[in-house]
Amino acid sequence: MNRTGETGEFLIVGGGIAGASAGWHLARAGHRVTLLEAERTPGVHSTGRSSALFSEYFGNTAVRALTRASRDFYAAPPPGFTDVALLAPRGVLALETPGTEAGFEEARESGADAPEPAVEVDAVRALELCPALRPDAFRRALYKPGARDIDVDAAHQGFLRGLRAAGGTVVTGARVVALARRGGRWHATTAGPGPARREGPEAAREFTAEAVVNAAGAWADQVAGLAGARPAGLVPRRRTAVLAAVPPPGNGQAHGPGTGHRPGYAAADVARWPMVTDVADTFYAKPESGALLLSPADATPVPPGDVRPDDLDVALAVERFEAVTTLKFHGLRARWAGLRTSPPDDTPVIGPDPGVPGFSWLAGLGGYGIQTAPAAGALLAVLVTGGEPPPALTALAPRTPLPGAAELPPHCPTQTPVESSEICRKRPGSSPAAESTTARTGRWPPSSRSRRT
Ligand SMILES: Cc1cc2nc3c(=O)[nH]c(=O)nc-3n(C[C@H](O)[C@H](O)[C@H](O)COP(=O)(O)OP(=O)(O)OC[C@H]3O[C@@H](n4cnc5c(N)ncnc54)[C@H](O)[C@@H]3O)c2cc1C
Repeated sequence: MNRTGETGEFLIVGGGIAGASAGWHLARAGHRVTLLEAERTPGVHSTGRSSALFSEYFGNTAVRALTRASRDFYAAPPPGFTDVALLAPRGVLALETPGTEAGFEEARESGADAPEPAVEVDAVRALELCPALRPDAFRRALYKPGARDIDVDAAHQGFLRGLRAAGGTVVTGARVVALARRGGRWHATTAGPGPARREGPEAAREFTAEAVVNAAGAWADQVAGLAGARPAGLVPRRRTAVLAAVPPPGNGQAHGPGTGHRPGYAAADVARWPMVTDVADTFYAKPESGALLLSPADATPVPPGDVRPDDLDVALAVERFEAVTTLKFHGLRARWAGLRTSPPDDTPVIGPDPGVPGFSWLAGLGGYGIQTAPAAGALLAVLVTGGEPPPALTALAPRTPLPGAAELPPHCPTQTPVESSEICRKRPGSSPAAESTTARTGRWPPSSRSRRT
């Protein structure tokens, strides 16, 4: 074992946008943070494969509270966080297509209390927004003007860069394969990237800290198992995306009824289209990099892993959008799939584990992890340092720290590497780090406190 002697207050397992945000908030509040990421590229399984939409119309009450609480951060990030705008106007046009009638009123109602409420638009306006639509393919349309594009990479890198600038450490190629608590500290053993333990320079290393934050995305239940915590019932689901170029206008061919040719559109015009979807969420199409990102909105349960797109889902992504437009796609620029991981009630799992001291969760962010990351990371940081969550996020309180935590049996004696006497003695979440930092913070958000030097 290569004992690096690297120590700190917090070990964060997982360098996707959730772990990066948590690390950013904790490090900026003056804590010593080490983030361990299994892969060479942090967030490669979900964060780096998203559709990059920030939508306050999405999700249940808790998700919306987190999204709303994240908006100001993304709209005006702290100085030095990034030098590009993170949000850009987009809008979403949700169609009532045959068979989706029941969803329209529900979508309108749930979009009514967004800061920029969803409004029904007629077919003329819908075609102004997206001229490629076929008027006979939908009966009604709902426009959600407040949805934004988000620069995911800039946000993710901003968190990681800020974490390092605040004195934190990011270690990539470090998969946590064992967690044990001894002498009041967590000991994390890591192996190199990939499924197998490596030899040589990528042999096992050990890191220690007072507290562990589980931000391992699709692997979060597995990491919880290493710590002796009960799983949160997280299910990773595969979502497919393809990038398809829209045929350009002209080509020297007439188009229209009887010609056999379909109209094309200039990339600059396509870039201004809203995301187009249906109210039942069976597909979406979103302008992206001069082309369209198409998805069949699939959610196939899969084990955690490096998922690849299924051919059928790729075909559905194209077919479902072609069915509501005059477009015909020829070839695809790219195709990929990524993981959206949620607990059964689709509410993120954030906060200290009730049964394992010094072990916390920031997981189960489903299809909302990008848009909720600033507030989710801030909430985690407050909860693990003994602060009070802001009123806007009290909707999450019943779920903090775990779904059904109240019904969990006491976690002692333990059958895990965790010291059982310690579990029984301590109040959940009252790790030394939590106790020592309660006095130091207690402000919301924790990042507003100047960092310790
Ligand atoms: C196609 C698609 C479209 C999406 N669109 C949107 C969208 O428009 N808007 C939105 O808000 N969200 C969207 N999402 C969801 C969003 O991408 C996720 O919610 C978010 O990326 C989750 O972030 P995370 O940090 O929890 O997980 P990840 O990004 O998966 O990060 C977890 C990290 O933990 C690491 N890890 C796992 N096990 C270990 C271990 N043992 N040791 C060390 N490291 C470990 C993994 O390698 C990984 O890098 C989309 C997702 C997909 C797939």
